[in-house]
Amino acid sequence: TPGVRPLIAGNWKMHGTLREAAALAEAVRAGAVAEALPADLLVCPPFLHVQVLAAAMLGQPVAVGAQDCHAAAKGAHTGDIAAAMLRDVGATHVILGHSERRADHGETDAVVRAKTVAALAAGLVPVVCVGETEAERLAGQAEQVVSRQLADSLPDGFAGIVAYEPVWAIGTGRTPTEGDIAAIHGTIRAALATRFGAAGAGTRILYGGSMKPGNARAILALPNVDGGLVGGASLVAADFLAIARAA
Ligand code: PEP
Repeated sequence: TPGVRPLIAGNWKMHGTLREAAALAEAVRAGAVAEALPADLLVCPPFLHVQVLAAAMLGQPVAVGAQDCHAAAKGAHTGDIAAAMLRDVGATHVILGHSERRADHGETDAVVRAKTVAALAAGLVPVVCVGETEAERLAGQAEQVVSRQLADSLPDGFAGIVAYEPVWAIGTGRTPTEGDIAAIHGTIRAALATRFGAAGAGTRILYGGSMKPGNARAILALPNVDGGLVGGASLVAADFLAIARAA
């Protein structure tokens, strides 16, 4: 999107010891300072590593985010983490509504919207994920499902990032065709612009799902693709940096 700097975001999921996470972040940082990359970088380690990595990346060209937060500001929610706690330890972003959380933890669009409100209130940039299942894609309902998720997961006044992640493309090595990616991203852009005006027209829309160094350049060149949300390939610094270089 003209005037929008791409973002390459790494979703590390439930991988890595603290030592491994610190080494991976350092390798990404070293790569980012060694060359002028055409994209901003974000890494999202497991909760436990957020504080240490945010401290290590302070002032460096690698932002640090989390993979979830609770919708409440505080309270009796055993095992959960509030958005303000993430901000307090230096996180700047939070992934919300990832399909693994929607599936593993039953997160609905309403839950994702509430979490997004909490993230914005805490000063975090939410990265809100939407995407159809394979059955929905085969039934010809991809656009409809993504439009509904988008409408119901984003609160009024949304200011953040949207990630289109077809569930069937995550961790499978399969991706939609370039035409299909461009079509959904165009639909998302139109919905954002209609609802949020100029802010929506400039919102970053990331593609996620089996993005690799080998397919990144073609995907990132598509209209309304403003970066990537990268799972597996973000665990290898050289691959993550290669994707960023292709932006
Ligand atoms: C993800 O889960 O956000 C993702 C895009 O995973 P992968 O790149 O491994 O498909």
